[in-house]
Amino acid sequence: MIDLRSDTVTKPTPGMLQAMLQAEVGDDVYKEDPSANALEARMAEMFGKPAALFFPTGSMANQAAIKLHTQSGEQLICDKYAHVYNYEGGGVSFNSGVSCKLLDGTQGKITAAQVEAAINPPDFYHSPLTSLVCLENTTNKGGGACYDLETIDEIRAVCDKHGLGLHLDGARLMNAIVAKGQDPKEFGKRFDTLTVCFSKGLGTPIGTVLIGDQELMDNAIRVRKVLGGGMRQIGYMAAACLYALDHHVERLAADHQKAKEIGDLLESLPQVTKVSPVETNIVIFHVKDEAGFSKAMAARNIIISNMGQGALRVVTHLDYTDTMHADFLQVLRETLS
Ligand SMILES: *Cc1c(COP(=O)(O)O)cnc(C)c1O
Repeated sequence: MIDLRSDTVTKPTPGMLQAMLQAEVGDDVYKEDPSANALEARMAEMFGKPAALFFPTGSMANQAAIKLHTQSGEQLICDKYAHVYNYEGGGVSFNSGVSCKLLDGTQGKITAAQVEAAINPPDFYHSPLTSLVCLENTTNKGGGACYDLETIDEIRAVCDKHGLGLHLDGARLMNAIVAKGQDPKEFGKRFDTLTVCFSKGLGTPIGTVLIGDQELMDNAIRVRKVLGGGMRQIGYMAAACLYALDHHVERLAADHQKAKEIGDLLESLPQVTKVSPVETNIVIFHVKDEAGFSKAMAARNIIISNMGQGALRVVTHLDYTDTMHADFLQVLRETLS
Protein backbone atom coordinates (compact mmCIF):
# COMPACT_ATOMS: atom_id res chain seq x y z
CA MET A 1 0.00 0.00 0.00
CA ILE A 2 1.29 3.45 -0.97
CA ASP A 3 -0.69 6.09 0.88
CA LEU A 4 -0.21 9.53 -0.63
CA ARG A 5 -3.45 11.09 0.57
CA SER A 6 -1.81 13.21 3.23
CA ASP A 7 1.28 13.67 5.37
CA THR A 8 -0.93 12.88 8.36
CA VAL A 9 -0.92 9.12 7.67
CA THR A 10 2.53 8.55 9.17
CA LYS A 11 3.11 6.37 12.22
CA PRO A 12 5.66 7.14 14.93
CA THR A 13 9.14 5.80 14.20
CA PRO A 14 10.82 3.44 16.70
CA GLY A 15 13.00 6.34 17.87
CA MET A 16 9.98 8.53 18.44
CA LEU A 17 8.17 5.78 20.35
CA GLN A 18 11.25 5.33 22.51
CA ALA A 19 11.32 9.05 23.27
CA MET A 20 7.64 8.88 24.20
CA LEU A 21 8.15 5.93 26.53
CA GLN A 22 10.94 7.77 28.31
CA ALA A 23 9.01 11.02 28.66
CA GLU A 24 8.80 12.71 32.01
CA VAL A 25 5.16 13.61 32.55
CA GLY A 26 2.86 15.41 34.95
CA ASP A 27 -0.60 16.93 35.00
CA ASP A 28 -0.58 19.64 32.36
CA VAL A 29 -3.83 21.18 33.61
CA TYR A 30 -1.73 22.16 36.64
CA LYS A 31 1.04 23.12 34.17
CA GLU A 32 3.16 20.41 35.83
CA ASP A 33 4.09 18.40 32.76
CA PRO A 34 7.84 18.96 32.29
CA SER A 35 7.88 17.69 28.71
CA ALA A 36 4.96 19.89 27.61
CA ASN A 37 6.53 22.87 29.38
CA ALA A 38 9.85 22.16 27.65
CA LEU A 39 8.20 21.92 24.23
CA GLU A 40 6.28 25.16 24.75
CA ALA A 41 9.42 26.96 25.93
CA ARG A 42 11.42 25.61 23.01
CA MET A 43 8.83 26.67 20.42
CA ALA A 44 8.46 30.14 21.93
CA GLU A 45 12.23 30.56 21.89
CA MET A 46 12.56 29.20 18.36
CA PHE A 47 10.06 31.74 17.02
CA GLY A 48 11.24 34.58 19.23
CA LYS A 49 7.89 34.95 20.98
CA PRO A 50 7.13 35.14 24.72
CA ALA A 51 4.53 32.36 24.92
CA ALA A 52 3.45 29.03 23.43
CA LEU A 53 0.75 26.48 24.26
CA PHE A 54 0.29 22.85 23.23
CA PHE A 55 -2.97 21.83 21.53
CA PRO A 56 -4.20 18.42 20.41
CA THR A 57 -4.99 19.58 16.86
CA GLY A 58 -4.25 22.35 14.42
CA SER A 59 -7.93 23.12 14.11
CA MET A 60 -8.29 23.69 17.84
CA ALA A 61 -5.19 25.89 17.90
CA ASN A 62 -6.42 27.98 14.96
CA GLN A 63 -9.87 28.26 16.48
CA ALA A 64 -8.42 29.36 19.79
CA ALA A 65 -6.29 31.97 18.03
CA ILE A 66 -9.32 33.33 16.18
CA LYS A 67 -11.21 33.51 19.48
CA LEU A 68 -8.32 35.42 21.08
CA HIS A 69 -8.25 37.99 18.27
CA THR A 70 -11.96 38.64 17.77
CA GLN A 71 -15.31 39.49 19.30
CA SER A 72 -18.64 37.97 18.23
CA GLY A 73 -20.06 39.66 15.14
CA GLU A 74 -16.70 40.66 13.73
CA GLN A 75 -15.11 39.52 10.49
CA LEU A 76 -11.80 37.98 9.50
CA ILE A 77 -10.15 38.05 6.10
CA CYS A 78 -8.69 34.94 4.49
CA ASP A 79 -8.19 33.23 1.16
CA LYS A 80 -11.15 31.29 -0.27
CA TYR A 81 -9.17 28.05 0.12
CA ALA A 82 -8.22 28.70 3.76
CA HIS A 83 -8.31 25.72 6.11
CA VAL A 84 -9.85 27.89 8.84
CA TYR A 85 -12.80 28.55 6.53
CA ASN A 86 -13.17 25.25 4.66
CA TYR A 87 -11.96 22.46 6.90
CA GLU A 88 -12.59 23.36 10.52
CA GLY A 89 -16.28 22.48 10.58
CA GLY A 90 -17.52 26.05 10.48
CA GLY A 91 -15.68 26.69 13.74
CA VAL A 92 -15.08 30.36 12.95
CA SER A 93 -18.82 31.02 13.27
CA PHE A 94 -19.52 28.23 15.79
CA ASN A 95 -16.80 29.16 18.28
CA SER A 96 -16.29 32.86 17.74
CA GLY A 97 -19.46 34.15 16.04
CA VAL A 98 -17.19 35.57 13.36
CA SER A 99 -17.72 35.68 9.58
CA CYS A 100 -15.07 35.27 6.90
CA LYS A 101 -14.44 37.64 4.02
CA LEU A 102 -12.98 35.37 1.36
CA LEU A 103 -10.37 36.61 -1.06
CA ASP A 104 -9.67 35.16 -4.48
CA GLY A 105 -5.97 34.53 -4.01
CA THR A 106 -3.37 32.68 -6.05
CA GLN A 107 -2.53 29.16 -4.84
CA GLY A 108 -4.08 30.04 -1.51
CA LYS A 109 -2.00 33.18 -1.08
CA ILE A 110 -3.39 36.70 -0.82
CA THR A 111 -1.83 40.14 -1.25
CA ALA A 112 -1.75 43.30 0.84
CA ALA A 113 -3.80 45.17 -1.80
CA GLN A 114 -6.50 42.50 -1.65
CA VAL A 115 -6.53 42.65 2.15
CA GLU A 116 -6.74 46.43 2.22
CA ALA A 117 -9.64 46.44 -0.26
CA ALA A 118 -11.52 43.87 1.85
CA ILE A 119 -11.46 45.80 5.14
CA ASN A 120 -14.85 47.19 6.09
CA PRO A 121 -14.64 50.87 7.09
CA PRO A 122 -14.87 50.79 10.92
CA ASP A 123 -17.32 53.71 11.07
CA PHE A 124 -19.70 52.06 8.57
CA TYR A 125 -21.75 50.33 11.26
CA HIS A 126 -23.84 48.33 8.77
CA SER A 127 -20.92 46.00 8.07
CA PRO A 128 -19.17 43.63 10.43
CA LEU A 129 -16.05 45.08 12.00
CA THR A 130 -12.93 43.64 10.39
CA SER A 131 -10.52 42.56 13.10
CA LEU A 132 -8.23 39.78 11.88
CA VAL A 133 -6.33 38.50 8.86
CA CYS A 134 -5.47 34.78 8.63
CA LEU A 135 -2.74 33.55 6.31
CA GLU A 136 -1.73 29.95 5.61
CA ASN A 137 1.89 28.89 5.01
CA THR A 138 2.35 26.56 3.29
CA THR A 139 -1.06 26.63 1.66
CA ASN A 140 -2.89 23.30 1.78
CA LYS A 141 -5.52 23.52 -0.95
CA GLY A 142 -3.21 25.97 -2.71
CA GLY A 143 -0.74 23.11 -3.28
CA GLY A 144 1.97 23.66 -0.68
CA ALA A 145 2.85 27.15 -1.90
CA CYS A 146 5.00 29.40 0.31
CA TYR A 147 4.65 33.10 1.04
CA ASP A 148 7.55 35.48 0.43
CA LEU A 149 8.49 37.40 3.56
CA GLU A 150 8.08 40.64 1.55
CA THR A 151 4.41 39.84 0.89
CA ILE A 152 3.88 39.14 4.58
CA ASP A 153 5.59 42.45 5.41
CA GLU A 154 3.16 44.28 3.14
CA ILE A 155 0.18 42.54 4.72
CA ARG A 156 1.58 43.25 8.19
CA ALA A 157 1.79 46.96 7.30
CA VAL A 158 -1.88 46.97 6.23
CA CYS A 159 -2.83 45.20 9.50
CA ASP A 160 -0.88 47.75 11.53
CA LYS A 161 -2.42 50.66 9.65
CA HIS A 162 -5.96 49.38 10.29
CA GLY A 163 -5.45 47.86 13.75
CA LEU A 164 -6.02 44.26 12.62
CA GLY A 165 -4.53 41.12 14.15
CA LEU A 166 -2.46 38.79 11.97
CA HIS A 167 -2.58 35.04 12.51
CA LEU A 168 -0.62 32.38 10.64
CA ASP A 169 -2.04 28.90 10.14
CA GLY A 170 1.34 27.21 10.00
CA ALA A 171 0.21 23.59 9.86
CA ARG A 172 3.10 23.07 7.42
CA LEU A 173 5.23 26.06 8.38
CA MET A 174 8.28 23.83 8.89
CA ASN A 175 7.99 22.72 5.26
CA ALA A 176 8.15 26.36 4.17
CA ILE A 177 11.04 27.13 6.52
CA VAL A 178 13.06 24.19 5.19
CA ALA A 179 12.15 24.79 1.54
CA LYS A 180 13.07 28.47 1.69
CA GLY A 181 15.94 28.23 4.19
CA GLN A 182 14.23 30.68 6.54
CA ASP A 183 14.67 31.44 10.22
CA PRO A 184 11.54 30.70 12.31
CA LYS A 185 12.05 34.08 14.01
CA GLU A 186 11.24 35.77 10.69
CA PHE A 187 7.70 34.48 11.19
CA GLY A 188 7.59 35.17 14.91
CA LYS A 189 8.26 38.84 14.36
CA ARG A 190 5.65 39.26 11.59
CA PHE A 191 2.66 37.48 13.16
CA ASP A 192 0.78 38.10 16.41
CA THR A 193 -0.03 34.40 16.69
CA LEU A 194 1.00 31.33 14.73
CA THR A 195 0.41 27.61 14.81
CA VAL A 196 2.83 24.83 13.95
CA CYS A 197 1.55 21.27 13.52
CA PHE A 198 3.61 18.25 14.46
CA SER A 199 1.19 15.65 13.10
CA LYS A 200 1.80 16.57 9.46
CA GLY A 201 5.28 16.35 7.94
CA LEU A 202 6.95 16.13 11.34
CA GLY A 203 5.34 12.75 11.91
CA THR A 204 3.91 12.77 15.45
CA PRO A 205 0.56 11.17 16.34
CA ILE A 206 -0.92 14.44 17.58
CA GLY A 207 0.10 17.95 18.51
CA THR A 208 0.08 21.56 17.44
CA VAL A 209 1.67 24.47 19.24
CA LEU A 210 0.16 27.94 19.26
CA ILE A 211 2.80 30.64 19.66
CA GLY A 212 2.11 34.30 20.27
CA ASP A 213 2.43 37.59 22.02
CA GLN A 214 1.90 37.59 25.78
CA GLU A 215 -1.21 39.75 25.90
CA LEU A 216 -3.09 37.47 23.51
CA MET A 217 -1.68 34.25 24.95
CA ASP A 218 -2.64 35.16 28.53
CA ASN A 219 -6.15 33.97 27.75
CA ALA A 220 -5.18 31.06 25.49
CA ILE A 221 -5.23 28.46 28.24
CA ARG A 222 -8.79 29.43 29.21
CA VAL A 223 -9.95 29.28 25.58
CA ARG A 224 -8.27 25.88 25.20
CA LYS A 225 -10.14 24.69 28.28
CA VAL A 226 -13.45 25.97 26.88
CA LEU A 227 -12.79 24.06 23.65
CA GLY A 228 -12.22 20.90 25.68
CA GLY A 229 -8.48 20.86 25.16
CA GLY A 230 -7.21 20.91 28.73
CA MET A 231 -5.22 17.68 28.90
CA ARG A 232 -3.32 15.79 31.57
CA GLN A 233 -0.11 13.77 30.96
CA ILE A 234 0.52 15.16 27.49
CA GLY A 235 4.25 14.89 27.99
CA TYR A 236 4.10 11.62 26.04
CA MET A 237 2.95 13.64 23.05
CA ALA A 238 5.22 16.58 23.74
CA ALA A 239 8.17 14.15 23.83
CA ALA A 240 7.22 12.99 20.33
CA CYS A 241 7.18 16.63 19.20
CA LEU A 242 10.57 17.33 20.78
CA TYR A 243 11.93 14.23 19.07
CA ALA A 244 10.48 15.47 15.75
CA LEU A 245 12.19 18.84 16.17
CA ASP A 246 15.51 17.05 16.60
CA HIS A 247 15.09 14.41 13.89
CA HIS A 248 12.35 15.23 11.40
CA VAL A 249 12.81 18.86 10.38
CA GLU A 250 15.78 18.77 7.99
CA ARG A 251 14.56 15.58 6.35
CA LEU A 252 11.51 17.47 5.04
CA ALA A 253 13.81 18.41 2.15
CA ALA A 254 13.67 14.74 1.05
CA ASP A 255 9.86 14.91 0.92
CA HIS A 256 10.11 18.09 -1.14
CA GLN A 257 12.56 16.45 -3.53
CA LYS A 258 10.23 13.49 -4.08
CA ALA A 259 7.27 15.80 -4.66
CA LYS A 260 9.32 17.76 -7.19
CA GLU A 261 10.20 14.55 -9.04
CA ILE A 262 6.52 13.53 -9.11
CA GLY A 263 5.56 16.99 -10.41
CA ASP A 264 8.28 16.95 -13.07
CA LEU A 265 7.25 13.51 -14.29
CA LEU A 266 3.55 14.47 -14.40
CA GLU A 267 4.45 17.55 -16.47
CA SER A 268 5.94 15.27 -19.10
CA LEU A 269 3.04 12.81 -19.40
CA PRO A 270 0.42 13.24 -22.15
CA GLN A 271 -2.59 12.24 -20.03
CA VAL A 272 -1.89 15.03 -17.55
CA THR A 273 -3.64 18.33 -18.29
CA LYS A 274 -2.27 20.51 -15.51
CA VAL A 275 0.27 20.41 -12.69
CA SER A 276 0.40 23.19 -10.10
CA PRO A 277 3.89 24.47 -9.26
CA VAL A 278 5.53 22.21 -6.65
CA GLU A 279 7.24 24.15 -3.85
CA THR A 280 7.11 21.73 -0.94
CA ASN A 281 5.54 18.29 -0.35
CA ILE A 282 2.17 18.70 -2.10
CA VAL A 283 1.46 18.02 -5.78
CA ILE A 284 -1.90 19.06 -7.25
CA PHE A 285 -2.66 17.94 -10.79
CA HIS A 286 -5.41 17.22 -13.29
CA VAL A 287 -5.67 14.27 -15.69
CA LYS A 288 -7.84 13.64 -18.77
CA ASP A 289 -9.60 10.52 -17.49
CA GLU A 290 -9.90 11.04 -13.77
CA ALA A 291 -12.19 8.08 -13.04
CA GLY A 292 -9.96 5.73 -15.02
CA PHE A 293 -6.86 7.07 -13.29
CA SER A 294 -8.33 6.64 -9.81
CA LYS A 295 -9.33 3.08 -10.67
CA ALA A 296 -5.84 2.26 -11.97
CA MET A 297 -4.32 3.65 -8.76
CA ALA A 298 -6.70 1.65 -6.57
CA ALA A 299 -5.83 -1.53 -8.48
CA ARG A 300 -2.16 -0.93 -7.59
CA ASN A 301 -2.94 -0.22 -3.92
CA ILE A 302 -2.04 3.45 -4.28
CA ILE A 303 -4.30 6.00 -2.63
CA ILE A 304 -4.35 9.69 -3.41
CA SER A 305 -6.79 12.52 -2.64
CA ASN A 306 -9.47 13.98 -4.82
CA MET A 307 -9.74 17.70 -4.03
CA GLY A 308 -12.89 18.28 -6.09
CA GLN A 309 -13.33 19.93 -9.49
CA GLY A 310 -10.99 17.40 -11.04
CA ALA A 311 -8.02 18.29 -8.86
CA LEU A 312 -5.98 15.31 -7.62
CA ARG A 313 -3.49 15.63 -4.78
CA VAL A 314 -0.53 13.63 -3.59
CA VAL A 315 1.41 14.49 -0.46
CA THR A 316 4.85 13.06 0.26
CA HIS A 317 5.83 12.22 3.84
CA LEU A 318 8.02 10.38 6.31
CA ASP A 319 6.50 6.95 5.59
CA TYR A 320 6.71 7.33 1.81
CA THR A 321 9.94 5.44 1.20
CA ASP A 322 12.40 5.55 -1.70
CA THR A 323 11.10 2.17 -2.88
CA MET A 324 7.50 3.38 -2.83
CA HIS A 325 8.61 6.47 -4.69
CA ALA A 326 10.26 4.45 -7.47
CA ASP A 327 7.15 2.24 -7.73
CA PHE A 328 4.80 5.21 -7.83
CA LEU A 329 6.78 6.97 -10.57
CA GLN A 330 6.73 3.77 -12.61
CA VAL A 331 2.94 3.38 -12.21
CA LEU A 332 2.47 7.02 -13.27
CA ARG A 333 4.54 6.40 -16.41
CA GLU A 334 2.50 3.31 -17.22
CA THR A 335 -0.96 4.75 -16.61
CA LEU A 336 -0.59 8.30 -17.89
CA SER A 337 1.57 7.83 -21.02
C1 LIG B 1 -3.99 19.91 8.70
C2 LIG B 1 -4.18 21.38 8.71
C3 LIG B 1 -4.63 22.04 9.86
C4 LIG B 1 -4.96 21.35 11.17
O1 LIG B 1 -5.65 20.19 11.03
P1 LIG B 1 -5.95 19.22 12.25
O2 LIG B 1 -6.36 17.99 11.56
O3 LIG B 1 -7.02 19.86 13.04
O4 LIG B 1 -4.70 19.08 13.05
C5 LIG B 1 -4.73 23.41 9.81
N1 LIG B 1 -4.41 24.09 8.71
C6 LIG B 1 -3.97 23.49 7.58
C7 LIG B 1 -3.60 24.32 6.41
C8 LIG B 1 -3.84 22.12 7.54
O5 LIG B 1 -3.39 21.54 6.44
